[in-house]
Amino acid sequence: MIIFDNHFHVDPFKGLFLEAVKQFHRAGGTHLAVVYKTAHDYGFAGMKAEDFIEAMDFHIKLVEKINKETPVKAFAVVGVHPAEFVYLAEKKSLEYAKDEVMKALEYAQKLCLEGKAIAIGEIGRPHFEVSGEIWRASIELMKYGMALAKEADCAVQLHTESFTEEKFRELGKIVKEVGIKPYRVVKHYSPPLVKIAEEVGVFPSILASKKAMMEAIMQGNRFFMETDYIDDKRRPGAVLGPKTVPKRTKAFLQQRIFTEEDVYKIHVENPEKVYGVEMEE
Ligand SMILES: [Zn+2]
Repeated sequence: MIIFDNHFHVDPFKGLFLEAVKQFHRAGGTHLAVVYKTAHDYGFAGMKAEDFIEAMDFHIKLVEKINKETPVKAFAVVGVHPAEFVYLAEKKSLEYAKDEVMKALEYAQKLCLEGKAIAIGEIGRPHFEVSGEIWRASIELMKYGMALAKEADCAVQLHTESFTEEKFRELGKIVKEVGIKPYRVVKHYSPPLVKIAEEVGVFPSILASKKAMMEAIMQGNRFFMETDYIDDKRRPGAVLGPKTVPKRTKAFLQQRIFTEEDVYKIHVENPEKVYGVEMEE
């Protein structure tokens, strides 16, 4: 059985790294979207485009190591986290930060075109309060990342403030404006609004908690499951653990909350469609 966690971080400095991936595998997990953390997390300054580029290369190496040293198939997602942009804009200047982040996003697109990454992410806008100027620039950068993904025909994973139906509708307008295919826009850390997401043309990636999964599956199976595992030993329990997606999937299948068809859709057909990858090799 194929089981895919759509948003998983690894941290070779603060976390368990390969051991976390092995835990995922022992619980029954087979495939991971491993998402870039921040340049800072990887030991780079995050002060210029070159730093982000080096951090993305470092991230690709981590993913290669997972593929070489564990039975799990890992796919890389690379970008510049919205918080990194905010930090840089406040430290230097808005214009400077925008230019550097744009260059870095172009590099993320290149990695997608080369087949080293499957999506640009996580990009988007900060989940904390910022000035109007920084907020607007964040949206511009989010649109730029989407336009790059559209050009490369790859996906984006979006990080945003906490989401509601109204915010989904606003995002749907942005997706239309950019002209990217709706199934290529993944809303990471999505609330279980499966129907609304489909209606507005966004693909939801929902935290694999019991409650959210119950609400999601009642509306359909057009969604991803994710843990947003952060792999940080100093913050245990800050997010769901690495075993959550396989454990939840198996339990729900056993309790007939998920049908076999649901599991196949969520873990095989959805990633194949959104990312254009081969899940069954
Ligand atoms: Zn994340």
